[in-house]
Amino acid sequence: MRIDTRLAQRLKKVKPSSTLAITSKAKKLKSEGFDIVSLAAGEPDFDTPDFVKEAGIEAIKSGFTKYTPTTGIPELKKLISEKLESDNSLGYEPSQIVVSCGAKHSIFNALSVLVDPDDEVLIPSPYWVSYPEMVHLCLGLPRFIKTLPENNFKITPIQLREQISSKTKVLILNSPSNPTGCVYREEELRKIAEICVENKIFVISDEIYEKLIYDGLKHVSIAGFNKDIYDLTVTINGMSKSYSMTGWRIGYLAAAIDISEAVSRLQDHSTSNPNSIAQKAALAALSYSGDFFSGIVREFQNRRDYCMERLKKMPKISPILPEGAFYIFFDISKTGLKSSDFANRLLEEKYISLIPGDGFGMDNYVRMSFATCMEELKKGMDRLADFLERN
Ligand code: PMP
Ligand code: GLU
Repeated sequence: MRIDTRLAQRLKKVKPSSTLAITSKAKKLKSEGFDIVSLAAGEPDFDTPDFVKEAGIEAIKSGFTKYTPTTGIPELKKLISEKLESDNSLGYEPSQIVVSCGAKHSIFNALSVLVDPDDEVLIPSPYWVSYPEMVHLCLGLPRFIKTLPENNFKITPIQLREQISSKTKVLILNSPSNPTGCVYREEELRKIAEICVENKIFVISDEIYEKLIYDGLKHVSIAGFNKDIYDLTVTINGMSKSYSMTGWRIGYLAAAIDISEAVSRLQDHSTSNPNSIAQKAALAALSYSGDFFSGIVREFQNRRDYCMERLKKMPKISPILPEGAFYIFFDISKTGLKSSDFANRLLEEKYISLIPGDGFGMDNYVRMSFATCMEELKKGMDRLADFLERN
């Protein structure tokens, strides 16, 4: 009997995550002693802060190791509500917030309660690898809006209008973006919001990289413009990228009460609460009142600037300055290689790992991460320059 023919249909379209696969391949090779420069990582290289770890240890020691309310402990939800108010000018009651096992889980939950079979979900392309696959899992239809490098990979109002049909249900926005690092400006978001309100389209606004933003730019949350767009928006955020807590798995969504209650029911019967210990750690992270981010942002910006300077001098590639997140997405068309061949050869010949663009919807691009120390970045840039000169 062939098992694969008996698997649920909805899994057939779903590909494995290229970001996770390549990142773990690089980690494995490194642990085996290969001198791998990993430019694949989708997580900050900084350690989780000590005060956060201590809170986790304390949670274990004090026996905070049982089920919690499904949507998260009240004190964490209260703090998230205050964070959304102070950082993002968004008024959400704790009852409108659902804490989940990472922002990835929050996005999946949001899509699960919004998307019916054959509903169309608009996804600006290039996109983060998991969005289309999650839409497939919800039996929806991803509809890509192809953005252009000359528009800094941002959708325009005209492009958005062109893609809307009677079946359009949701638009996924991600600013700052993975993989391009583009950051939408307030006036751009206002126009997008207007179109979504006019057409009653929900917006899933993935703001996971909000703290990693450069050149003094300011992150803007689309839900804050007016009541109409607020009601249609699911705001997504989490602890992974801002507090180097990728392994702890805490993310959250905030939305109109009907949406958060539906997500709560879904979570009741799927994962229940996110990890109790990690919730206490998240509480400590969000309670921290010192200046946590400016040093990290400065360091990331220095690394970005260093890499951009180096990349701009290399033959055959065209990097675009990212304004946020920790990725540089660059065009490799002139090498004549497909993105997976480029990435494989780079790994085999130069021991550099990066992510092929095909998983992000662009087979003539690759994504490098600068979430690694300067020394490794220098080594990586030297090896990449050498590879490009020979190919
Ligand atoms: N959104 C984007 C754009 C991401 O890059 C990631 C990284 N994994 C996530 C969401 C999910 O992050 P997490 O599940 O670790 O909170
Ligand atoms: N979001 C990160 C990345 O794009 C982590 C891996 C993942 O969850 O996809 O590399």
